[in-house]
Amino acid sequence: MNDSARRTFLLRKGAEVAKKLEDLLAHKEVDLSQGILGSAVPDHDDALRLRRFLELIDRRIKAARFGRCTVCEERLPEATLDETPWLERADIGLGCRIALSLRNALNLRGPSLAATNA
Ligand SMILES: [Zn+2]
Repeated sequence: MNDSARRTFLLRKGAEVAKKLEDLLAHKEVDLSQGILGSAVPDHDDALRLRRFLELIDRRIKAARFGRCTVCEERLPEATLDETPWLERADIGLGCRIALSLRNALNLRGPSLAATNA
């Protein structure tokens, strides 16, 4: 898949997630067991989970540097991008660690380290 196809995939995914959120808010039965970021936790706020996923998808569609880690700007693995094009960073590698410690040293704001992996 190339990046253009991945953006199309993201748009479709966004529409799918938006529909699930709409159904959930209309108290319809919604299957969140597959293809939705985050895990199904009893008593967890499913609407919040869907909203966060939508925001992430939206950020990635608009990202100028699609397919690159938002921390160190290294290209993310192609296979990972095919499966989860909404990913914002790979598992923290050396490039990320250096970028993060530089950021911390300079006290700059950057993406949080909250897990964004599926
Ligand atoms: Zn990185």
